[in-house]
Amino acid sequence: MAADHVDVLIVGAGLSGIGAAVHLGRECPGRAYAVLEARGAIGGTWDLFRYPGIRSDSDMYTLGYSFKPWTDPKAIADGDSIRAYVRQTAREYGVERHIRFHHRAVRAEWDSATARWTVHAHRDDTGEDVTLTCGFLFTNSGYYRYDEGYTPRFPGVERYAGTLVHPQHWPEHLDYTGKRVVVIGSGATAVTLVPAMAERAAHVTMLQRSPTYVIALPSRDRFADAARRWLPPKAAYAVARWKNVALGVANFQLSRRAPGVVKRFLRRAAKGRLPSGYDVDRHFSPRYNPWDQRLCVVPDGDLFAALSAGRASVVTDTIDTFTEQGIRLASGEELPADVVVTATGLNLLALGGMTLAVDGAEVDLASTVAYKGMMLSGVPNFAMTIGYTNASWTLKADLVATYVCRLLRHLDDTGRQIVTPLAPDTDDLVPIIDLRSGYVLRAVDQLPKQGPQAPWRLHQNYPRDVRLMRHGPLTDGVRFARAGAPATAPAATTSSGGTDA
Ligand SMILES: Cc1cc2nc3c(=O)[nH]c(=O)nc-3n(C[C@H](O)[C@H](O)[C@H](O)COP(=O)(O)OP(=O)(O)OC[C@H]3O[C@@H](n4cnc5c(N)ncnc54)[C@H](O)[C@@H]3O)c2cc1C
Repeated sequence: MAADHVDVLIVGAGLSGIGAAVHLGRECPGRAYAVLEARGAIGGTWDLFRYPGIRSDSDMYTLGYSFKPWTDPKAIADGDSIRAYVRQTAREYGVERHIRFHHRAVRAEWDSATARWTVHAHRDDTGEDVTLTCGFLFTNSGYYRYDEGYTPRFPGVERYAGTLVHPQHWPEHLDYTGKRVVVIGSGATAVTLVPAMAERAAHVTMLQRSPTYVIALPSRDRFADAARRWLPPKAAYAVARWKNVALGVANFQLSRRAPGVVKRFLRRAAKGRLPSGYDVDRHFSPRYNPWDQRLCVVPDGDLFAALSAGRASVVTDTIDTFTEQGIRLASGEELPADVVVTATGLNLLALGGMTLAVDGAEVDLASTVAYKGMMLSGVPNFAMTIGYTNASWTLKADLVATYVCRLLRHLDDTGRQIVTPLAPDTDDLVPIIDLRSGYVLRAVDQLPKQGPQAPWRLHQNYPRDVRLMRHGPLTDGVRFARAGAPATAPAATTSSGGTDA
């Protein structure tokens, strides 16, 4: 029996996959598409994570889609509201009927003779294996493993008699009212959990090996509120979005150019929100520079408020061992705990674990170079969404989807069927993700690389990418071909002027 065929196959129905489907429907209305989603629900991250206080740490004017104004007054939003926004988008733009739930894409094989991908998926609900074909494969599978968060091996953990929880698998009915809680970690999840759990727990201790930069921002954006009063929703959204883009870029550039200034500012800001005599240097002054790892945002300073009220505390130390009743630290201090939350991070996973082959040859992701941060050298008719590390994910996701639509229209207009990035002619390659966070460093060897200059370099700069992706050339560093032309081709030697076959 012939496999189902669509023009474009999107993998993933999270924030990015739903956005990609809307862009396709609006910008390439003639193209048939389907969305494969491994889980039984829309929303990805915003459906999976259910821990107390789950929220964005970006503002929703930039984490929201370019085409759908975020109208909720809260700029930093809770997980439920974001999930509802993604679902509402899927419903409003007719994406729901294109989604095939419980379909985990596991492998895709490209054939140049037919200019098609054959995609193999596994249905976790029925155990069936399903095969589809498509002309263009567009993965929107996020960046981490869904089945398992990262937990380091803690000595003595097997004898701990309390409740041990990972935020990625939050037990629906966990009651921590009046309990002593220890949250291990210092990242975005830990700083969210601590004030949220402190509302009901007897006490919450955030146990960190080393500090992270934490900044308090208002949960409501007064500028956006004013814009909404004076302007129609779309215009107000656009103005608030660009204001926050500009602030984000300025903040990042300043951190890169004058890290000492930003360090001092962050230290002073934290100190101002903590009781006098608090050891800010020990608990809130990291050794690395701002933006070597993501900055942690706390809305309205809720973490600092919980610490000041004595409902929570921070301990900076290393774990010697778990005991029956809690955790013993290297300093000898004991932390009694009824509940321990291991907010120790994610396991990075590229392409949702899919393997790729091109004309019978396996694709080794680590040997590929990312083109404009969204295609892979030597891999035809393929795009992936990876958001910014220094700004909201969706800003980049929107641009990637727009670029894919431009490419598809260009193929139509020129009577070609295949577009393949040609590997740049350089050895000057570095990892695609430039953060120094543990979860990145653990997986960086398995990820594609980036090159020294455009279109192979990621600038992590939205205004620059708007020029490049919405208005820039489509032909630099790629080869366009008709069905039947082999995928293998010479390296691109310049950053302009694609080849043709
Ligand atoms: C707790 C948490 C908070 C975050 N907060 C922010 C924030 O404030 N700002 C920000 O910019 N970013 C944030 N992020 C990053 C966040 O993941 C992105 O903002 C965004 O949700 C990514 O959307 P996505 O659709 O690309 O990926 P995901 O949300 O991960 O969705 C991917 C979807 O693809 C599906 N999928 C994966 N593999 C396959 C496969 N092989 N076959 C079929 N389906 C598959 C998954 O089931 C999932 O539904 C946060 C991440 C986490 C974990």
